[in-house]
Amino acid sequence: MLEDKKQERISLETLGEFGLIRHLTEHFTIRHKSTLKGIGDDAAVLDFTDKTVLTTDLLVEGVHFDLSYMPLKHLGYKAIAVNLSDVYAMNAKATQVTVSIAVSNRFPLEALEELYAGIALACKKFGVDLVGGDTTSSQKGMLISITALGEAKEADIVYRSGAKPNDLLVVSGDLGGAYMGLQVLEREKEVFKVNPNNQPDLEPYSYIVERQLKPEARKDIPELLKALVVRPTAMIDISDGLSSEILHLCQESKVGCNLFEEKIPLDPTVIAACEEFSMDSTLVALSGGEDYELLFTIDQQDFDKIKGNPHLTVVGHMTDASEGTHLVTRANTKIPLTAQGWNSFESE
Ligand code: ADP
Ligand code: MG
Repeated sequence: MLEDKKQERISLETLGEFGLIRHLTEHFTIRHKSTLKGIGDDAAVLDFTDKTVLTTDLLVEGVHFDLSYMPLKHLGYKAIAVNLSDVYAMNAKATQVTVSIAVSNRFPLEALEELYAGIALACKKFGVDLVGGDTTSSQKGMLISITALGEAKEADIVYRSGAKPNDLLVVSGDLGGAYMGLQVLEREKEVFKVNPNNQPDLEPYSYIVERQLKPEARKDIPELLKALVVRPTAMIDISDGLSSEILHLCQESKVGCNLFEEKIPLDPTVIAACEEFSMDSTLVALSGGEDYELLFTIDQQDFDKIKGNPHLTVVGHMTDASEGTHLVTRANTKIPLTAQGWNSFESE
């Protein structure tokens, strides 16, 4: 992963902009009948029966991703996945994406082919159509902007604002993995700088490294909830860490919350990595970010429908706003939640 492959390189200028776009996008297929026209005209033409959901993300090299340990194929996959995560967080079905890129001429054609291989894989995995984008040069580095579109019945759309006191707070999957994967990758990057011949053994960390490099958007959760006949009262995806997402839900819904430390779902690999790095696993789950799990609230009456589901964990309940937002620790003390985000680790 960390080696710099010396290979035949085709420069981007030799293809020209139109040749490049055609080359990168010719193998993409259209899956949705709502896509009347995809790539190839001045604009895409879409036809939805239900309501349209739209979200966009901008990823900047050196700010949002580091190509020294992020393979371009993973980057392409992740860029699509994290965008679709926002569509799923609205309880909607993701249907189309556009991908715009700015690249400096330090990138050969093969680099963009890798990026688009990851984009293609994600489009296939999540069943979305690539319907357009823009391609331009940049003075320095790479920039990727993705817009995702989705569709949902108006009554099914879930906002951040619908949580009520006594609703249960539920999270999908487990937390903290992506952040601990990043710790491992950063450490190996430093080792590699000192000794480039040292090939890291990432095998013991494969789960958390994958959580960082190839996160999966939870397409399955809105589908699962539909099958269980559970409509969340509020929902958000976990991009910045459990703590800050809970605060968003509470603020938008005008409620408070008790989050129980002992309930926070952690993979054993995350716990082991936290021990190795002398980090507190609760703090990692609260502030780590990039897990792209879904956090939502449900009416208490729906508890029996989700009880025992291996994908879902009840981590707390909402309260009256006047009670504030708290973490209830294992020692049963109440600590106010703060939106630390991942900056909380900076001083460590
Ligand atoms: P225009 O000059 O009208 O913006 P472009 O030549 O930029 O048109 O794009 C031609 C077609 O290729 C359009 O359908 C556009 O959406 C699509 N396209 C351009 N760049 C990309 C890209 N990086 N990825 C996917 N589609 C792209
Ligand atoms: Mg254009």
